[in-house]
Amino acid sequence: MPPAPPAVTASRSTAAAMGVFLVAGGLTSPAVVLGTDVVLDARGLGLLGIGAAAAATGAAMLAFGHRVRPAGYHAVVGLGTALITAAVLLTPSATTALTVGALYAFIVVDVVYFFGRRQAAAHLASVAAAAGTALTVRDVPAGALVTLALVGAALTYVVGALVQRASTASRDSLTGLCNRRGFDDAVEAAVVTAERAGTLLSAALLDVDHFKTVNDRGGHAAGDQLLRAIADQAAPALPAGAVLARFGGDEFAVLLPGRTGTQAQAVVERLREAVTAAALSAGVAELRPGHAAADLLRHADTALYAAKAAGRGRSRLHDDTSADTIRDLADALGRGHVRAWFQPLVSLAGGPGGPGGEVVGFEALARWVRPDGHVVPPVEFIPAAETSGLIAELGLAVLADACRGAREVRDAWGRDLLLTVNVSGRELTSGDYPDRVQEILRATGWPTDLLVVEVTESLVDGSSAQALAALEELRARGVAVAIDDFGTGYSAFSRLDTLPADYLKLDNVFVADITTSPRRAGMLQALLSLARALGLQVVAEGVETQEQADLLTGMGCTLAQGWLFGRPVPPARLAATPPVPVDRAAQWLAGARDRS
Ligand code: C2E
Ligand code: MG
Ligand code: MG
Repeated sequence: MPPAPPAVTASRSTAAAMGVFLVAGGLTSPAVVLGTDVVLDARGLGLLGIGAAAAATGAAMLAFGHRVRPAGYHAVVGLGTALITAAVLLTPSATTALTVGALYAFIVVDVVYFFGRRQAAAHLASVAAAAGTALTVRDVPAGALVTLALVGAALTYVVGALVQRASTASRDSLTGLCNRRGFDDAVEAAVVTAERAGTLLSAALLDVDHFKTVNDRGGHAAGDQLLRAIADQAAPALPAGAVLARFGGDEFAVLLPGRTGTQAQAVVERLREAVTAAALSAGVAELRPGHAAADLLRHADTALYAAKAAGRGRSRLHDDTSADTIRDLADALGRGHVRAWFQPLVSLAGGPGGPGGEVVGFEALARWVRPDGHVVPPVEFIPAAETSGLIAELGLAVLADACRGAREVRDAWGRDLLLTVNVSGRELTSGDYPDRVQEILRATGWPTDLLVVEVTESLVDGSSAQALAALEELRARGVAVAIDDFGTGYSAFSRLDTLPADYLKLDNVFVADITTSPRRAGMLQALLSLARALGLQVVAEGVETQEQADLLTGMGCTLAQGWLFGRPVPPARLAATPPVPVDRAAQWLAGARDRS
């Protein structure tokens, strides 16, 4: 026999081939009964009965065979052997016995193709014994028996060799692991088994971090060596039953039957630890009821994307809800359903007594407006956008929409307004953020000196050199920077003088307490003096009551935002309702432009 033929087929094709053999074998019985020396007596009827039984079993295999457990296939082959042997024994002559005995060839092909080497050998031995005995009983001459044995041996060799060849097509020549084709077959088969038996199944996709650098620096030979080392280190870290594959390039995949997503992630973490040759990013997913192999791999891929977006060198478990959100959000961005709504930024310079503040600008806040009119707030999609990497696209889409909206309002009101836009850390580290901002300003015609980008205190404090450089670059080009949600992070007061900022936005939580907590009010007073000394403008966010507004005004806080002055609304609505009076706002803005 040729070298061990690995299983290359899924259960569906095994069942189909066995079904066809059984039906074909069964259908030969009328030909044997009517076209040879068989008489239609009890023996003849017995032969017809055996044929009918074989055909019926074959039909059942064709219909339901893919649900049969592997042990069931052995039983079906055993039954086939028994039926042929019984039929041979019922034939009236050596010639007819030899005719029926030719059907043993079906069994030979079946077992060599579908079973492992040992199992196939056991089946072949029992077929040889049964055929030899039955044909000898029916007086088949020795020469015919030898001929039949030779045909069987040749079939065994040729089919075995073909299987071997087919299995090489599903192996990766570099690492010796399964390749994509082999893995796809394994996943298909595992999904069928998991569905049938109601068992668990998970899969993981892995990517070598910075593989391109290895290839670029050390050439392809170094890259190949690294991939082989990874395969060698990863394989022993996997439990029995797992399938490890190389998808090509620097992508690996693992199939983990019998494991939940969380358990699979634990296995993947052990694998990542075992692989010292390189850092790996991994996405893990668990098969959900009703899902196909393609869904499982797609989910693992989404999780891998999230792992890379979160900074590589880690694994992520696919989360159904966030994945659905990401898909819907990508679609909504493509259709322009993510819009910038405006919340007024007001000047408190009017002094205590009335909301008093004139609108001097707007903060653009992202809103996902669904086709049915439902408005999704940013807390429900910004985190998913950040982990998936969609945030860059989202940020620029909101900025462009905000600039267009701001122009509309400015044209309607006939005066300049400040526009503030939120930006995430991940956008700032994208490299070309300042260029993209400038490009949008140019395309929409919004003046550079009327734009403020808001970044959170924790982002600036996270001291990402690239983020800080991007902020400095923006400021150098005339865009102002605001530190958002100030008071919620851990910025030390001593950091205030080094922050690349023009505005401080005091968080809602900080402002909420000022009328009830004298200590908070005292802190605010101190902060305002400090900011003034440092040339920073303070914006109090979340101003909801007149009392808060009065207190802030009394302390000399000049800018505020909050529901007291207006909730976020679509810019078109603001454009339709120009406010009066405008003088003080225009005055303040002229000062702000001079200052920045
Ligand atoms: P933020 O930048 O601090 O925005 C202020 C949030 O406070 C907004 O919530 C606003 O609607 C809310 N707010 C305003 N006035 C009041 C008030 O008087 N009382 C209370 N309780 N809340 C008030 P929103 O619109 O849900 O935004 C939440 C956060 O989402 C924003 O916080 C910002 O960090 C983020 N975000 C919004 N749009 C974008 C965007 O385009 N890009 C990025 N990266 N983040 C965004
Ligand atoms: Mg903000
Ligand atoms: Mg804020």
